[in-house]
This record gives sequence, structure tokens and C-alpha cells, in this order.
Amino acid sequence: MNTKYIFVTGGVVSSLGKGIISSSLARLLLSRGYRVTIQKFDPYINIDPGTLNPYEHGECYVTVDGQETDLDLGHYERFTNIHTTRANNITTGRIYQNVIDKERRGDYLGKTVQIIPHITDEIKRNVKLLGNTGKFDFVITEIGGTVGDIESLPFLEAVRQLRWEMPHDSLCIHLTYVPFINAAKELKTKPTQHSVKNLQEVGIQPDILVLRTEHDIPAGMRRKVAQFCNVSPDAVIQSLDASSIYEVPLNMLKEGLDIAVLRKTGCPTDGEPDLTQWNNFLSKLHNCSKTVKIGLVGKYVELQDAYKSIDEALFQSAVYHDAKLDLKYISSEKLRDDNVKEMLSGLDGVIVAPGFGQRGIEGKFVALKWCRENDVPTFGICLGMQCMVIEFARNVLGMTDANSTEMDPKTPYNVIDLMEEQKSISNLGGTMRLGAYACRLAGGSTVAKAYGKDMVEERHRHRFEFNNEFRYQFEKSGMSCVGENPETHLVEVVEVPSRKWYVGTQYHPEYSSTVLNPHPLFMSFIEAALKYKMSEK
Ligand code: GLN
Repeated sequence: MNTKYIFVTGGVVSSLGKGIISSSLARLLLSRGYRVTIQKFDPYINIDPGTLNPYEHGECYVTVDGQETDLDLGHYERFTNIHTTRANNITTGRIYQNVIDKERRGDYLGKTVQIIPHITDEIKRNVKLLGNTGKFDFVITEIGGTVGDIESLPFLEAVRQLRWEMPHDSLCIHLTYVPFINAAKELKTKPTQHSVKNLQEVGIQPDILVLRTEHDIPAGMRRKVAQFCNVSPDAVIQSLDASSIYEVPLNMLKEGLDIAVLRKTGCPTDGEPDLTQWNNFLSKLHNCSKTVKIGLVGKYVELQDAYKSIDEALFQSAVYHDAKLDLKYISSEKLRDDNVKEMLSGLDGVIVAPGFGQRGIEGKFVALKWCRENDVPTFGICLGMQCMVIEFARNVLGMTDANSTEMDPKTPYNVIDLMEEQKSISNLGGTMRLGAYACRLAGGSTVAKAYGKDMVEERHRHRFEFNNEFRYQFEKSGMSCVGENPETHLVEVVEVPSRKWYVGTQYHPEYSSTVLNPHPLFMSFIEAALKYKMSEK
């Protein structure tokens, strides 16, 4: 079959969950045996979100091939169980960069380079890049932002042209919001009608409308939306708030989103998606008999999306252990020696989060010292692992003022230091150690047992590293380097074997935890946390 292109746009307000709808549709199509990929086009001018502050953009997700991407790609992977790559996230910045590079090379042969056709052609080329590999039956393209934004206009123009060029092999799903006016006790569809008008003004007629709502939308109201928006009544689909994002594929199945897509792209609509494994996860989720209480120590604690992949990895592993996750965010800036006990006691496990820069760093050392001394299961990720090393150096090896040269370039004990190849780099964008690298695990270590193998590949996003000059001193005093890169010998994992579960990874295991394949380290950490909880009672 020809590759089918599904465009997902959003209107009325942002944060409606286009990423979750796209991921849910992908899940349903995959479960029907189709080959599916999801890509996101972001209208901002940054080349990638790598240099964006989490306050602006939430977590930065990293693909195996080392692209720093939007956090929606994390959802794509968690729902589909398939790796995304650099081609799955394109920004306006990348589009312009490509066009300007071509212009400098002289590729445009003296033409005036313009938004239309040159920028839109470049967008279209990128939309089709994955489809042209022949590896996919469906390419779902999520257009970031909200219809009506000036910056998304070139993307919408490209979608309009593609719809025109492939009338039978493409369609547009538009996601809108139906607010409930409490005082009037009424649902209102007018914002949806206006949003569809906005799309129609740029020449796009949506084929399917997904209405995000907090209350059931009556059939009559859906028919009205269909009539006013030129959409067939069975293509007006409601997306009611769900108790978990992982319920959304089932809700979309009930609403017939997959059937509407198949019918409108000329694919057979018989049969049902095989969701056995997915349903298995959901039934575990609904029947959890325990609770596991995890503290996440970080500096972006007021922001829901900053540690998205960690939250989801913990949630998935907890469910597989029959436990509901009770996640408590702890601001590292507020942690001091005199309040650490009060702030951390009662937790079954503690995660020390990734991050950059000085703010909140001392609180991470305070938390780690307390956890290590009280033998609480503790997981340090990236900066969290580096903090484990620094805390151990200061409080066990007696290296007062030990630090990472990121925080203190003049530290006498640079136990975490800049990688040699990083020293000549001055640009911040896309220059970290990024993407998947191999790691060899020491036999008998907690991590090797957790993975059940001794060679793994995990994704990285950092500039600084464990300084191997100090390795002997750490190992002699009880912190073992149990994972290393087989080629460069960079230390990837440390643990304190005398503790129940005290592990730090320089890499980010959270990026590769999915609903169907929860990550072994998160599984092992939750198991340790539950054991600790039992032993405390
Ligand atoms: N700031 C640290 C580094 O660059 C850790 C980065 C991270 O936690 N992702 O090495």
C-alpha cells in the first residue's frame, strides 16, 4: 500500500495532548499490524530544544542517534515501543538552516529564496523523509503549536499542499477543546467552530475532529459540530479526560478513531487491534494493591513536564510491581542538613535528577548523604550520578571541596571533569555527548543482575564525566565503577555495594522505558524500594 500521511493539528488552546492522541492512534494502528512512525514539526526557530530551559519547554528527550528533541517523542516511544530518530523531530530552525545552506551552496540557481515555495518545499521534503524509506504504512505528523499562530503558517501551507497532492493517502485530524461553562452548566462548541474556520481559511478541511472535553458530549452536539465544520458525524470524536494517559488508546478505540482513519485512507476496516499486552498493563494498573512512595530530588519541581520520562518510567515499573506510584517532588534548593530527615523520611526510594548548573546542587549532596547513611534505595541519573560521586568524595574520601568542574572550575578534587574532546567546544547547541553508547557491566553488580546481561546500550546527554584519575580511591573505599564504555573506559555506572540499592548512571535509562518494556533498572529500583518499605514496617 502507499504510505498514508496523517496530520495532527491543534486548535483553541495548547496542551490538549496532540502527542497523546498521535501516540494512541499509532498504538491502535500498530496493534492492527501496520508499520507506523510519528514525527513532530515544531514551529520555533531553535534548531532543537537542547538549549531550551525546561521552564520553557519541559524535558528534552534524546533519541538513540543523539538528537535532542521535544518531549512528545518520549510519548511516541513509550506508546509504540519503537525508537525514534533525528528525522522524527524537525523545527522551523532546521528547515531554515537547510534552506540557507542550500542557498549558500548555490542550489537555487539564482532564484529569490522565499517562504513559498522554498521553505514549504523543504517542509514537505522532511514530512516525506520517513515515508520515502518504504518502512512505514502510516506516517503520523504532529504539527506543534496552535492553529492561528503566525509561526505555524508555513507548516499548514505545506500540509495544505500535501493534502492536495495526495487526496487519498493523507488526512488531517484536528484536535480542539470543548469547554464546560460552569455557571451555565453547558458545553460550548463555538471555539471548535472558530478553530476549524481558522484551518479552513488556510485551505485545510479537517477530516476528523477530536474534541477534548471534561464532560461527555451529547450525540446531538456532535452532530451539530459535524454539520458546522463539514465533517462526517462519525468523524467527530470525543476525548474525555482519562485517569491515565495510557487509557487514551482504549478510549480512542471505543470512539472509533482508528476506524475513521482507515476508512478515510481507503484501508480495510474489519478486524480489531490486538491490544492484549496493552490491556494486560492496564489491568495491572487498575488492580494495584500496594503503593510505592518515591521522592524525586531536583530543581524544577514546580514544573510537571521537567522530568517526564523519569516520572513515566517510575510509573510503568511500579505498575509491573503491583504498586501505585506516589511521587513526591522535592526541591533540592530547600534541602539542608537540619531538615533532610523531615523531608525524606517516609520515602521508599529516592531519585536524584539530571540537571545543569549550580542552583540546588548542595541540596542534592545533602539528600545523597542522608540516603547513603540511612541505606535508602537511591538512584542517581546523570547529574544525579555525578552528585553521588562528589558526595562520596567529600564525605567518605575526605576530599573537602570535591566537585565537578561544571560547578567549581578551580576545585582541588575534580572528581567530575570535562571530557577531553569537550574542552575545545564553545557552541552550546547539540555539542554534548548525545545518544546511545555501549556500556559493559561488571559481573555480579546490582546493575548487571537487573539487566540480566553484561553489555547494554543507553542514551547520554552530558558534557562532564567521572574522572578516572580518582577511580582507584573510590573503588578502594566502597564506591565501585560497575559500568564502563568498552572503548573509551569512561565510567558509566557507579554503585555502593554495601548499600541495598545505591546506583548512579551517567546515562539516562528513563528514555528507553516503555509501557510494554519497562526499563530493567527502574524495575530493579522499584523492587528494592518495595522491599525497603516492607522492612521498615
Ligand atoms: N550537567 C551535567 C553534564 O553536563 C549533567 C547533565 C545531565 O544531567 N543531563 O555533564
